[in-house]
Amino acid sequence: MHTVRDAALAIVGAMATLPAESVGVREALDRVLAEDVVSPVDLPPWDNASMDGYAVRAADVRGASRAAPVALVVVGTIAAGARASRPLGAGEAYRIMTGAPLPAGADGVVRVEDSDAGTERVVLFDDRDAGRNVRPRGEDLAAGALAVARGTRLGPAHLGVLVSVGRAVLPVARRPRVAILATGDELVDVDRFDEVVRGERIVTSNSYTLEAMVRRAGGVPVPLGLVRDDPDALRACLLAAPPHDLLLTSGGISVGAFDHTRRVLADLGATLDFWRVKIRPGAPLGFGSWRGVPWIGLPGNPVSTMVTSELFVRPALRRMQGMTRPYAGTVPVRVAERVTTGAALTHFLRAVVASAADGVLEARLTGPQGSGLLTSMARANALLVLPEHRQDVAAGEMARALLLGDDALAAEAPEF
Ligand code: AMP
Ligand code: MG
Repeated sequence: MHTVRDAALAIVGAMATLPAESVGVREALDRVLAEDVVSPVDLPPWDNASMDGYAVRAADVRGASRAAPVALVVVGTIAAGARASRPLGAGEAYRIMTGAPLPAGADGVVRVEDSDAGTERVVLFDDRDAGRNVRPRGEDLAAGALAVARGTRLGPAHLGVLVSVGRAVLPVARRPRVAILATGDELVDVDRFDEVVRGERIVTSNSYTLEAMVRRAGGVPVPLGLVRDDPDALRACLLAAPPHDLLLTSGGISVGAFDHTRRVLADLGATLDFWRVKIRPGAPLGFGSWRGVPWIGLPGNPVSTMVTSELFVRPALRRMQGMTRPYAGTVPVRVAERVTTGAALTHFLRAVVASAADGVLEARLTGPQGSGLLTSMARANALLVLPEHRQDVAAGEMARALLLGDDALAAEAPEF
């Protein structure tokens, strides 16, 4: 049986990076940059004022105070977007606005609050800004410097940097197409909710949680619908699937009499790398490939499906998009209550993580932890991770938690 780490390494390691496509910068939010982008220019492109005030020579204003003000001749006004008509001379000042280019000869900007705001002649009352308030050319990015690295998932700040260096169109990884198939005689789609009300069926919530998780991970869901626990129906559905980059099945992966997924795939010529992982929830987890396309066989229990998606499917999709930090990361947390697991498996417990009164992050379980209790997942903002050697954790002990968001991604597969 694979450890969680070995399973993640095997799955992520088997994913090929998808080819790049070009998209407009406005469409690039949350996409993964496919090339390093280097700045062709210095940013800012000129030395400029960081305050509204007067561009001066430090030597002229040093010693200025309320008791001994300094008067300078104002030789012009430089707005942001304008330039000085000539260099600054001794005894002179330019009125200057934030962002405007510093005139040659000036080496500082005295804030307007330290002046009488004069327009022909200015009186300065303070020398605290002598030699200050200048943002040097290239301070943000020098020409030739890396602006954003390949493998970065682009957020608003990255898009701002990329347009600032002239990139209106960006190379990003193609979105992975992810085929999603739910199996189970007991399942119906929500349009048949009357059968749920009659106590005959349950809704295929996995179809929806998986589609949502695929979208959130930058993929495009390709829904294959629902199939009964019938090998022929399963085979027909798989053979009719439209093109995709990753196949996800939910359910039918365990040892039940009607769990056909593994065998049907094997009969169709799929290779099966493993089908069990030392994890709770989610121990029956299959991985292999069929017709050159990787397959992840997720367990049917709704919480198991979600936890294993978080640990294996999302990292796989991140890697397909070329992300350099594909793995779920963890943060240290204090366990708020005693937790016993009682099985030598790595446990991922639904928890709410919040700052305690002393500022330490504290994890509190959402309640009962059954793998069918989907509401426990809906209430959680994190998974408390208890490795197999920690089956009894006292209140107040430290552990790690996986935050259910992108904030704590890791480059290396965690050891748990
Ligand atoms: P299985 O992995 O097929 O043995 O299913 C395990 C449990 O998960 C059973 O209680 C199923 O009813 C439930 N289950 C399987 N597939 C889904 C699904 N698509 N949506 C919600 N629950 C499911
Ligand atoms: Mg089933």
